[in-house]
Amino acid sequence: MDFQDIKGQEHCKRAIEVACVGDHGIIFIGPHRSGKSALIKRIPTINSVPIFTAEILPCPCGNFTDPKKECLCKPRQIQEHLTSISPRILKRADMQVEVPKINLSINDKRRGETSAVIRERIEKTRRNFKPYKLDKEANELLKLAILELGISPLSYDKIIYVAVTIAQMDDKRVIEAHHISEAISYRSLDRNLWG
Ligand SMILES: [Zn+2]
Repeated sequence: MDFQDIKGQEHCKRAIEVACVGDHGIIFIGPHRSGKSALIKRIPTINSVPIFTAEILPCPCGNFTDPKKECLCKPRQIQEHLTSISPRILKRADMQVEVPKINLSINDKRRGETSAVIRERIEKTRRNFKPYKLDKEANELLKLAILELGISPLSYDKIIYVAVTIAQMDDKRVIEAHHISEAISYRSLDRNLWG
């Protein structure tokens, strides 16, 4: 089993790498057969320390966001489904990442990075300096996100934790705006993607 077996899903693979470097728990949200379990099963191939993971469907029937299947759930049911996620799980996961169902051609011979390459990068990055300060733009973006997304204090803390890891991977001494925006991209449930 190797990350190389998974075609596409670059956003998810990047998210997993961030999670491994910073020991962040991660929730995967996606329709049936979008590859959530395949991603989770491969985490031990790049990381010696287990991280918390959970997988959830985007709606009660599991077809929402699937481009080929029809979801018959009502908006209210979807909302209830998402608010029923246990607070214990939400608390343990700094990151909430959407796993889209993608159509892959059998002829697609492109191969991604091997688990060995990713593992080596994770181990190297772990030794980097951890930044603790936000630059001016990062601060402003964060303020804007609080206003626009109405994020909770818990989410606020988690965005910062994850942004610290991303800046560390970038070998930066301060947290910049793009580190914050990437961290926000891993907060799918806050962004009210399905609301
Ligand atoms: Zn549904």
